[in-house]
Amino acid sequence: MSNKLNKIGILTSGGDAPGMNAAIRAITRTAIYNGLEVVGLQEGYNGLLRGEYEILDARSVGDILQKGGTYLRTARCEDFKKPHVVLSGVEQARKIGLDGLIVIGGDGSFRGARDLTRAGLPTVAIPGTIDNDISCSEYTIGLDTCLNTVKECIDKLRDTSMSHNRCSVVEVMGHGAGYIAIYASIACGADCVLIPEIPFSISKDVIEKIKEGHQKGKKHCIVIVSEQLLDPAELAKTIEAETGMETRATILGHIQRGGIPTMRDRVIASQMGAKAVELLLEGKSNRIVRMKRGEISDIDIEEGLAMKKDLPKDLIDLANILSI
Ligand code: ADP
Repeated sequence: MSNKLNKIGILTSGGDAPGMNAAIRAITRTAIYNGLEVVGLQEGYNGLLRGEYEILDARSVGDILQKGGTYLRTARCEDFKKPHVVLSGVEQARKIGLDGLIVIGGDGSFRGARDLTRAGLPTVAIPGTIDNDISCSEYTIGLDTCLNTVKECIDKLRDTSMSHNRCSVVEVMGHGAGYIAIYASIACGADCVLIPEIPFSISKDVIEKIKEGHQKGKKHCIVIVSEQLLDPAELAKTIEAETGMETRATILGHIQRGGIPTMRDRVIASQMGAKAVELLLEGKSNRIVRMKRGEISDIDIEEGLAMKKDLPKDLIDLANILSI
Protein backbone atom coordinates (compact mmCIF):
# COMPACT_ATOMS: atom_id res chain seq x y z
CA MET A 1 0.00 0.00 0.00
CA SER A 2 1.45 3.33 -1.00
CA ASN A 3 1.83 6.16 1.52
CA LYS A 4 0.18 8.54 -0.87
CA LEU A 5 -3.58 8.29 -0.98
CA ASN A 6 -4.84 7.55 -4.48
CA LYS A 7 -7.68 5.11 -4.19
CA ILE A 8 -10.08 4.43 -1.32
CA GLY A 9 -12.81 1.85 -0.72
CA ILE A 10 -16.18 2.17 1.02
CA LEU A 11 -18.29 -0.56 2.56
CA THR A 12 -21.41 -0.78 4.72
CA SER A 13 -21.45 -3.56 7.31
CA GLY A 14 -23.78 -5.03 9.96
CA GLY A 15 -27.36 -3.74 10.19
CA ASP A 16 -28.50 -1.25 7.56
CA ALA A 17 -29.65 2.23 8.52
CA PRO A 18 -31.40 5.00 6.58
CA GLY A 19 -28.85 7.67 5.72
CA MET A 20 -26.06 5.24 4.82
CA ASN A 21 -26.58 6.25 1.17
CA ALA A 22 -26.01 9.91 1.99
CA ALA A 23 -22.72 8.89 3.60
CA ILE A 24 -21.69 6.78 0.57
CA ARG A 25 -22.47 9.72 -1.71
CA ALA A 26 -20.60 12.22 0.45
CA ILE A 27 -17.53 9.98 0.73
CA THR A 28 -17.48 9.38 -3.03
CA ARG A 29 -17.89 13.02 -4.02
CA THR A 30 -15.53 14.43 -1.37
CA ALA A 31 -12.90 11.91 -2.45
CA ILE A 32 -13.33 12.67 -6.16
CA TYR A 33 -13.25 16.42 -5.41
CA ASN A 34 -9.86 15.79 -3.79
CA GLY A 35 -8.54 13.84 -6.76
CA LEU A 36 -9.02 10.32 -5.38
CA GLU A 37 -10.45 7.23 -7.03
CA VAL A 38 -13.28 5.46 -5.20
CA VAL A 39 -14.35 1.85 -5.08
CA GLY A 40 -17.61 0.57 -3.54
CA LEU A 41 -17.24 -2.88 -1.97
CA GLN A 42 -20.40 -4.97 -1.93
CA GLU A 43 -22.08 -6.64 1.07
CA GLY A 44 -19.76 -5.54 3.84
CA TYR A 45 -16.49 -7.31 4.51
CA ASN A 46 -17.65 -10.13 2.17
CA GLY A 47 -17.15 -7.83 -0.83
CA LEU A 48 -13.60 -7.06 0.27
CA LEU A 49 -12.77 -10.75 0.73
CA ARG A 50 -14.33 -11.79 -2.58
CA GLY A 51 -13.02 -8.80 -4.50
CA GLU A 52 -16.60 -7.78 -5.40
CA TYR A 53 -16.61 -4.07 -6.05
CA GLU A 54 -17.52 -1.33 -8.47
CA ILE A 55 -15.73 1.87 -9.36
CA LEU A 56 -17.79 4.78 -8.06
CA ASP A 57 -17.84 8.11 -9.85
CA ALA A 58 -19.82 11.19 -8.98
CA ARG A 59 -22.74 10.02 -11.15
CA SER A 60 -22.87 6.45 -9.78
CA VAL A 61 -23.94 7.85 -6.41
CA GLY A 62 -26.61 10.11 -7.93
CA ASP A 63 -30.24 9.48 -6.93
CA ILE A 64 -29.37 7.46 -3.82
CA LEU A 65 -29.44 10.31 -1.27
CA GLN A 66 -33.19 10.05 -0.79
CA LYS A 67 -33.33 6.26 -0.50
CA GLY A 68 -33.32 4.07 2.60
CA GLY A 69 -31.15 0.97 2.88
CA THR A 70 -27.64 0.89 1.45
CA TYR A 71 -26.71 1.06 -2.21
CA LEU A 72 -23.65 -1.12 -1.50
CA ARG A 73 -25.83 -3.66 0.37
CA THR A 74 -24.64 -4.93 3.72
CA ALA A 75 -23.91 -8.23 5.45
CA ARG A 76 -22.51 -9.86 8.50
CA CYS A 77 -19.32 -11.82 7.88
CA GLU A 78 -18.54 -13.93 10.94
CA ASP A 79 -15.28 -15.15 9.36
CA PHE A 80 -13.90 -11.64 9.55
CA LYS A 81 -13.30 -12.12 13.29
CA LYS A 82 -10.44 -14.53 12.36
CA PRO A 83 -7.01 -12.88 12.01
CA HIS A 84 -6.02 -14.84 8.88
CA VAL A 85 -9.26 -13.73 7.18
CA VAL A 86 -8.47 -10.08 8.01
CA LEU A 87 -5.04 -10.61 6.42
CA SER A 88 -6.64 -11.94 3.26
CA GLY A 89 -8.84 -8.83 3.27
CA VAL A 90 -5.71 -6.67 3.29
CA GLU A 91 -4.28 -8.80 0.48
CA GLN A 92 -7.45 -8.25 -1.60
CA ALA A 93 -7.29 -4.51 -0.86
CA ARG A 94 -3.74 -4.52 -2.19
CA LYS A 95 -4.90 -6.28 -5.38
CA ILE A 96 -7.68 -3.71 -5.86
CA GLY A 97 -5.11 -0.98 -5.21
CA LEU A 98 -6.77 0.50 -2.14
CA ASP A 99 -4.73 2.88 0.02
CA GLY A 100 -7.51 3.34 2.55
CA LEU A 101 -10.99 2.15 3.51
CA ILE A 102 -14.07 3.73 5.06
CA VAL A 103 -16.44 1.41 6.93
CA ILE A 104 -19.99 2.47 7.82
CA GLY A 105 -21.61 0.32 10.52
CA GLY A 106 -21.88 -0.43 14.21
CA ASP A 107 -19.34 -1.40 16.85
CA GLY A 108 -18.88 -4.91 15.42
CA SER A 109 -17.91 -3.36 12.10
CA PHE A 110 -15.55 -0.99 13.96
CA ARG A 111 -13.67 -4.00 15.35
CA GLY A 112 -13.17 -5.23 11.80
CA ALA A 113 -11.94 -1.73 10.83
CA ARG A 114 -9.47 -1.73 13.73
CA ASP A 115 -8.17 -5.16 12.74
CA LEU A 116 -7.69 -4.03 9.12
CA THR A 117 -5.72 -0.96 10.22
CA ARG A 118 -3.51 -3.14 12.43
CA ALA A 119 -2.94 -5.49 9.48
CA GLY A 120 -1.83 -2.61 7.26
CA LEU A 121 -4.92 -1.11 5.57
CA PRO A 122 -5.60 2.41 6.93
CA THR A 123 -9.28 2.43 7.89
CA VAL A 124 -11.75 5.00 9.24
CA ALA A 125 -15.20 4.13 10.62
CA ILE A 126 -18.53 5.96 10.59
CA PRO A 127 -21.38 5.13 13.03
CA GLY A 128 -24.36 3.90 11.01
CA THR A 129 -27.07 2.21 13.09
CA ILE A 130 -30.64 3.07 14.07
CA ASP A 131 -29.94 2.04 17.68
CA ASN A 132 -27.65 4.95 18.69
CA ASP A 133 -25.67 2.35 20.65
CA ILE A 134 -22.19 3.66 19.84
CA SER A 135 -20.70 4.92 23.09
CA CYS A 136 -18.29 7.50 21.69
CA SER A 137 -20.89 9.29 19.56
CA GLU A 138 -23.96 11.26 20.59
CA TYR A 139 -25.58 10.36 17.29
CA THR A 140 -25.56 7.46 14.85
CA ILE A 141 -26.81 7.69 11.27
CA GLY A 142 -30.36 6.32 11.00
CA LEU A 143 -31.70 7.13 14.47
CA ASP A 144 -33.81 10.10 13.40
CA THR A 145 -35.45 8.32 10.46
CA CYS A 146 -36.15 5.31 12.67
CA LEU A 147 -37.73 7.53 15.34
CA ASN A 148 -39.96 9.19 12.77
CA THR A 149 -41.13 5.77 11.57
CA VAL A 150 -41.78 4.67 15.16
CA LYS A 151 -43.68 7.90 15.82
CA GLU A 152 -45.91 7.34 12.79
CA CYS A 153 -46.64 3.72 13.80
CA ILE A 154 -47.39 4.51 17.45
CA ASP A 155 -49.60 7.48 16.49
CA LYS A 156 -51.64 5.03 14.39
CA LEU A 157 -51.80 2.51 17.23
CA ARG A 158 -52.95 5.29 19.55
CA ASP A 159 -55.89 6.09 17.23
CA THR A 160 -57.21 2.56 17.47
CA SER A 161 -56.33 2.06 21.19
CA MET A 162 -58.18 5.25 22.00
CA SER A 163 -61.25 4.26 19.98
CA HIS A 164 -61.53 0.87 21.74
CA ASN A 165 -60.30 1.86 25.24
CA ARG A 166 -57.48 -0.61 24.77
CA CYS A 167 -53.96 -0.99 26.02
CA SER A 168 -51.30 -1.23 23.33
CA VAL A 169 -47.97 -2.92 24.03
CA VAL A 170 -45.42 -1.86 21.39
CA GLU A 171 -41.99 -3.43 21.01
CA VAL A 172 -39.34 -1.22 19.41
CA MET A 173 -35.76 -2.00 18.41
CA GLY A 174 -32.65 -0.88 20.31
CA HIS A 175 -30.12 -3.73 20.36
CA GLY A 176 -29.60 -3.51 24.12
CA ALA A 177 -29.93 0.29 24.28
CA GLY A 178 -33.09 2.20 25.25
CA TYR A 179 -32.70 5.27 23.01
CA ILE A 180 -35.45 4.38 20.54
CA ALA A 181 -37.83 3.39 23.37
CA ILE A 182 -37.22 6.46 25.52
CA TYR A 183 -37.44 8.99 22.67
CA ALA A 184 -40.58 7.24 21.40
CA SER A 185 -42.03 7.28 24.88
CA ILE A 186 -41.59 11.07 25.14
CA ALA A 187 -42.69 11.84 21.59
CA CYS A 188 -45.65 9.45 21.47
CA GLY A 189 -46.92 9.84 25.04
CA ALA A 190 -46.36 6.35 26.44
CA ASP A 191 -47.81 5.50 29.85
CA CYS A 192 -45.01 3.03 30.65
CA VAL A 193 -41.63 2.43 29.06
CA LEU A 194 -39.38 -0.56 29.71
CA ILE A 195 -35.72 -0.22 28.73
CA PRO A 196 -32.62 -2.34 29.35
CA GLU A 197 -30.84 0.40 31.33
CA ILE A 198 -33.42 0.51 34.16
CA PRO A 199 -34.47 -2.56 36.18
CA PHE A 200 -38.25 -2.93 36.29
CA SER A 201 -41.00 -4.97 37.87
CA ILE A 202 -44.05 -5.82 35.74
CA SER A 203 -46.42 -5.58 38.69
CA LYS A 204 -45.13 -2.23 40.00
CA ASP A 205 -44.00 -0.45 36.84
CA VAL A 206 -46.68 -1.69 34.47
CA ILE A 207 -49.77 -3.16 36.17
CA GLU A 208 -49.94 -0.68 39.07
CA LYS A 209 -49.22 2.23 36.76
CA ILE A 210 -51.99 1.22 34.36
CA LYS A 211 -54.46 0.80 37.26
CA GLU A 212 -53.47 4.21 38.68
CA GLY A 213 -53.88 5.77 35.24
CA HIS A 214 -57.33 4.24 34.96
CA GLN A 215 -58.31 5.76 38.33
CA LYS A 216 -57.04 9.14 37.12
CA GLY A 217 -59.32 8.93 34.09
CA LYS A 218 -57.07 7.39 31.44
CA LYS A 219 -59.22 5.25 29.17
CA HIS A 220 -56.52 3.70 27.03
CA CYS A 221 -52.77 3.29 27.35
CA ILE A 222 -49.52 2.69 25.51
CA VAL A 223 -46.68 0.58 26.88
CA ILE A 224 -43.38 0.81 24.97
CA VAL A 225 -40.91 -2.04 25.41
CA SER A 226 -37.35 -2.23 24.13
CA GLU A 227 -36.62 -5.43 22.18
CA GLN A 228 -35.12 -8.54 23.85
CA LEU A 229 -36.48 -7.70 27.31
CA LEU A 230 -39.61 -9.86 27.31
CA ASP A 231 -42.27 -11.40 25.11
CA PRO A 232 -44.71 -8.57 24.23
CA ALA A 233 -47.58 -11.06 23.65
CA GLU A 234 -47.08 -12.51 27.15
CA LEU A 235 -46.98 -9.02 28.65
CA ALA A 236 -50.22 -8.18 26.84
CA LYS A 237 -51.88 -11.29 28.33
CA THR A 238 -50.67 -10.36 31.83
CA ILE A 239 -51.93 -6.78 31.50
CA GLU A 240 -55.32 -7.98 30.28
CA ALA A 241 -55.61 -10.56 33.08
CA GLU A 242 -54.47 -8.17 35.84
CA THR A 243 -56.21 -4.94 34.78
CA GLY A 244 -59.21 -6.19 32.81
CA MET A 245 -58.18 -3.84 29.99
CA GLU A 246 -58.29 -5.36 26.52
CA THR A 247 -54.66 -5.42 25.35
CA ARG A 248 -52.92 -5.93 22.02
CA ALA A 249 -49.22 -6.41 21.33
CA THR A 250 -47.44 -5.05 18.25
CA ILE A 251 -43.84 -5.72 17.31
CA LEU A 252 -42.71 -2.96 14.97
CA GLY A 253 -39.76 -5.05 13.76
CA HIS A 254 -37.75 -4.34 10.64
CA ILE A 255 -40.06 -1.59 9.43
CA GLN A 256 -37.94 0.58 11.76
CA ARG A 257 -34.86 0.03 9.61
CA GLY A 258 -36.30 1.28 6.31
CA GLY A 259 -37.73 4.42 4.83
CA ILE A 260 -36.78 7.74 3.31
CA PRO A 261 -33.95 9.24 5.37
CA THR A 262 -34.89 12.40 7.24
CA MET A 263 -33.22 15.77 6.76
CA ARG A 264 -31.20 15.25 9.96
CA ASP A 265 -29.90 11.86 8.84
CA ARG A 266 -28.97 13.13 5.38
CA VAL A 267 -27.09 16.15 6.70
CA ILE A 268 -25.21 14.33 9.48
CA ALA A 269 -24.37 11.38 7.19
CA SER A 270 -23.02 13.83 4.59
CA GLN A 271 -20.91 15.62 7.21
CA MET A 272 -19.58 12.34 8.63
CA GLY A 273 -18.79 10.98 5.16
CA ALA A 274 -16.82 14.08 4.22
CA LYS A 275 -14.99 14.03 7.56
CA ALA A 276 -13.92 10.41 7.05
CA VAL A 277 -12.31 11.29 3.70
CA GLU A 278 -10.57 14.32 5.25
CA LEU A 279 -9.07 12.08 7.95
CA LEU A 280 -7.63 9.68 5.38
CA LEU A 281 -6.30 12.62 3.36
CA GLU A 282 -4.56 13.89 6.51
CA GLY A 283 -2.89 10.48 6.83
CA LYS A 284 -4.98 9.47 9.84
CA SER A 285 -6.47 6.02 10.33
CA ASN A 286 -7.99 3.82 13.02
CA ARG A 287 -10.41 6.66 13.77
CA ILE A 288 -14.16 6.73 14.39
CA VAL A 289 -15.97 9.79 13.08
CA ARG A 290 -18.39 10.86 15.79
CA MET A 291 -20.66 13.57 17.09
CA LYS A 292 -19.59 15.25 20.32
CA ARG A 293 -21.45 18.23 21.77
CA GLY A 294 -23.24 18.57 18.45
CA GLU A 295 -20.01 18.83 16.42
CA ILE A 296 -18.49 16.25 14.08
CA SER A 297 -15.08 15.15 15.34
CA ASP A 298 -13.09 11.91 15.59
CA ILE A 299 -11.61 9.52 18.12
CA ASP A 300 -9.28 6.51 18.14
CA ILE A 301 -11.26 3.31 17.43
CA GLU A 302 -9.86 1.47 20.46
CA GLU A 303 -10.63 4.39 22.75
CA GLY A 304 -14.11 4.75 21.26
CA LEU A 305 -14.88 1.04 21.65
CA ALA A 306 -13.80 1.12 25.32
CA MET A 307 -16.16 3.97 26.21
CA LYS A 308 -19.51 3.55 27.95
CA LYS A 309 -22.55 5.68 27.23
CA ASP A 310 -25.35 6.22 29.71
CA LEU A 311 -28.83 7.05 28.54
CA PRO A 312 -29.31 10.65 29.77
CA LYS A 313 -31.16 10.49 33.10
CA ASP A 314 -33.13 13.63 32.29
CA LEU A 315 -34.76 11.80 29.35
CA ILE A 316 -35.83 8.96 31.63
CA ASP A 317 -37.15 11.41 34.23
CA LEU A 318 -39.02 13.38 31.58
CA ALA A 319 -40.67 10.25 30.19
CA ASN A 320 -41.87 9.41 33.72
CA ILE A 321 -43.10 12.90 34.57
CA LEU A 322 -45.04 13.21 31.33
CA SER A 323 -46.79 9.90 31.84
CA ILE A 324 -48.70 10.92 35.01
P1 ADP B 1 -22.61 -3.93 13.75
O1 ADP B 1 -21.44 -3.45 12.97
O2 ADP B 1 -23.91 -3.33 13.28
O3 ADP B 1 -22.39 -3.84 15.24
P2 ADP B 1 -22.07 -6.80 13.86
O4 ADP B 1 -21.72 -6.78 15.30
O5 ADP B 1 -22.91 -7.89 13.34
O6 ADP B 1 -22.84 -5.46 13.41
O7 ADP B 1 -20.70 -6.72 13.04
C1 ADP B 1 -20.72 -6.59 11.64
C2 ADP B 1 -19.54 -7.30 11.06
O8 ADP B 1 -18.32 -6.71 11.55
C3 ADP B 1 -19.41 -8.76 11.40
O9 ADP B 1 -20.21 -9.60 10.62
C4 ADP B 1 -17.93 -8.99 11.13
O10 ADP B 1 -17.70 -9.05 9.74
C5 ADP B 1 -17.32 -7.72 11.65
N1 ADP B 1 -16.92 -7.91 13.06
C6 ADP B 1 -17.71 -7.96 14.14
N2 ADP B 1 -17.00 -8.19 15.28
C7 ADP B 1 -15.72 -8.28 14.89
C8 ADP B 1 -14.48 -8.53 15.58
N3 ADP B 1 -14.45 -8.73 16.91
N4 ADP B 1 -13.34 -8.57 14.85
C9 ADP B 1 -13.38 -8.38 13.52
N5 ADP B 1 -14.51 -8.14 12.81
C10 ADP B 1 -15.66 -8.10 13.47
